[in-house]
Amino acid sequence: MLLTISTTHAPATDLGYLLYKNPSQVQSFELSFGNVHIFYPEANDEKCTVAMLLDVDPVSLVRGKKDGNSDGSLDQYVNDRPYVASSFVSVAIAQVFGSALSGKSKERPELVDKPLPLVATVSVIPCRAGEDYLRNLFEPLGYEVTVEQPELDDKFPEWGNSKYFALTISKVCVLRDLLNHLYVLLPVLDNDKHYYVGEAEVSKLLLHGEGWLSTHPKREDITKKYLKHRYSLVRQITEKLAIEEVNEDADETAKVQAKEEESIERTISLNERRIGTVVSVLKQSNAYRVVDLGCGGGKLLRALLDENEFHQIVGVDVSHRALEIAHERLYLDRLPERKRERIKLMQGSLTYKDARIAGFDAATLIEVIEHLDEPRLSALEKVVFKFAKPKVVIVTTPNVEYNVTFENLPAGKFRHGDHRFEWTRAEFEEWGNRIATTYGYAVRYLPVGDEHPEYGAPTQMGVFRV
Ligand code: SAH
Repeated sequence: MLLTISTTHAPATDLGYLLYKNPSQVQSFELSFGNVHIFYPEANDEKCTVAMLLDVDPVSLVRGKKDGNSDGSLDQYVNDRPYVASSFVSVAIAQVFGSALSGKSKERPELVDKPLPLVATVSVIPCRAGEDYLRNLFEPLGYEVTVEQPELDDKFPEWGNSKYFALTISKVCVLRDLLNHLYVLLPVLDNDKHYYVGEAEVSKLLLHGEGWLSTHPKREDITKKYLKHRYSLVRQITEKLAIEEVNEDADETAKVQAKEEESIERTISLNERRIGTVVSVLKQSNAYRVVDLGCGGGKLLRALLDENEFHQIVGVDVSHRALEIAHERLYLDRLPERKRERIKLMQGSLTYKDARIAGFDAATLIEVIEHLDEPRLSALEKVVFKFAKPKVVIVTTPNVEYNVTFENLPAGKFRHGDHRFEWTRAEFEEWGNRIATTYGYAVRYLPVGDEHPEYGAPTQMGVFRV
């Protein structure tokens, strides 16, 4: 298996300093699965190419193993391991180019953060999902990608193409990024990871995926494949990444949310009416255990805490800042013990299945759905109505028809800068009816706040029951 990395940065031989590998020597390293040889097929001022040749010894991989792989078949000795880019490459990158991978260079520190013209080739790469998949991994990271699928044998064209690909990626970027991308993405393409995938892999993925994985369009797929579909591990990552991503604007949202939305809606003290209505619907439903999803600063939680019949109250929000505000507003540190033990705050994203929110009598989504864009909203629908499946779900959202009556809201603007949409009553009911039919709930709609004869009430509420 051959990986090459070239640069035309002048002087190109600086690559040797970044990699801590002298261009004038061949160096070999013994790793547990075979040998790694580092050499430079070309090294001059204009262009420098380093090659990493991985000489995997399939026999040594089998020797001494007593697990299910040792079934005595020839496969364990004759296989693609020595030839393809696999998880071994990542191990080799980490062991042999470790300093460059973490962005250190004693001799050329100024080059560590300097974008350089880089081209990497991977001679043989397995990718069952095909060329497009390969492109979809690297192109979103800004690489120009060339993929070739060589003929198995040009003397026998009828044999068709190899199932393996040759990959070239080029980009002007810092070397550390290129190495980290390869480190994470090569094992993703490899179904036969040689090592046990455990907790350590979660930390590695977070470390090497830092700064790019959370915004990669294939991040979920990358995570699942990197962690070999070990879902307990996958969940840890998706949670962290989701929190990392949403937090950036959610924290900000939490701060301005209160001010902006309240000032527009103040005239009718809509907020209090909304909370009052939710609490009375919950009481009528005999809900004792309530989870407030997207609890924000905890206004509903406070109202619930004042009513003793709600004996388990949980607030969930993706924003750490919002939870801090809730913690303060609820005086959680000063509550008498009996009250304190009825309430819990948890950080979590509503777009990922979460056992902690399952099994409640009721869940509330108060002014939350309009903060999620389409793909996230459909993820939330499943998380709440399919997996958490509370007996009652209360959803409130602005009625956009009513907006014309707000004097201080310019026409066509939403009530809050972070709202991804605001629905008419018909749109909300269409959504609610679809949810009810899909997940086996009955739904009814209630107006919240004073109703305008033409535009309806400022807030619309859907109450779903199993
Ligand atoms: N329910 C509260 C807050 C509404 S603001 C109230 O009525 O005052 C919307 C809240 O949803 C914000 O606190 C935001 O952080 C949270 N939120 C947005 N996307 C989320 C997600 N994917 N998972 C969990 N919370 C989310």
